[in-house]
Amino acid sequence: MIANISKTKEILNKYNLNAKKQLGQNFLVDGNIIKRIVNEANVDKKTGVLEIGPGIGALTEELVINSQKVLCYEKDSDMVKILLDNLHQDNLKIVEGDFLKVDLDNDLHYFDDCEKVKVISNLPYYITTPIIIKLLEDNNRITDFYFMVQKEVGMRLTGKPKSKDYGSLSVLIDFQANAEMCFMVKKTCFYPSPNVDSCVIHLEKADKNFPIEDKKDFLQFVQKIFALRRKTLVNNLTVGYNLDKEEVKTFLSNLNYKETVRSEELDVREIVKLYQEFLLTKKNK
Ligand code: SAM
Repeated sequence: MIANISKTKEILNKYNLNAKKQLGQNFLVDGNIIKRIVNEANVDKKTGVLEIGPGIGALTEELVINSQKVLCYEKDSDMVKILLDNLHQDNLKIVEGDFLKVDLDNDLHYFDDCEKVKVISNLPYYITTPIIIKLLEDNNRITDFYFMVQKEVGMRLTGKPKSKDYGSLSVLIDFQANAEMCFMVKKTCFYPSPNVDSCVIHLEKADKNFPIEDKKDFLQFVQKIFALRRKTLVNNLTVGYNLDKEEVKTFLSNLNYKETVRSEELDVREIVKLYQEFLLTKKNK
């Protein structure tokens, strides 16, 4: 089993390597956590699994045993060599390259004979958000995602209205998926140990049928209304769109919002409604 600290050090030593910080290399060294992730994701022999950043293969090894097949993307050629030397299996396909640049639709044909497909990954933390956005937006096949992420980021991705973790990232996710926190993971479960704890989250892509024509414009609106964290919605709209403050107050009061309301109090449905009214008012000016 790869997932223990002495084995991980032994492999890195054998190949004369150190973990590369710039690639977010913190390897899982706790076999129980790996089993728990695979369990949580309900992986079985009819499941295809896509993994981003297999590293030396601690999680990959368990996925290969429990799933129908695994497709993984690794940017670091040193890791790819280790994987090819140590984890060569018929149901494992290793692609060397930057996951953010791959043509997903084409690659996902690998899973054509699988009943279901899931993404399970201990993500390189420096590109957590771009990876999640790519998976939610560039693929129509996979709806089920299990990610190990930095604890604070996991709290924000799964944040609920009125909580301190709720912000533009929570809305971005809630707009197109259902998100839940699965469990926390201590920093000591990794080698080298990162500065912060981690967590595993589950995202399920969902079509919520929001009547939004220009998604990019809506997401910009979300960024703007959360930009000044401790300020009111009036202030965020005024500054974000360079508007007259009194006009913004009237606009919000016509929608029965108090002057003191903050974006953190609104759920995604209310934000969609607010955006639509905002567009209408802009158009009629
Ligand atoms: N899955 C392994 C584990 O749990 O022990 C390693 C996880 S480590 C946090 C993240 C991995 O992602 C590293 O192996 C790193 O080289 C790889 N990586 C970093 N950037 C990447 C990218 N753009 N595309 C694919 N893999 C990447």
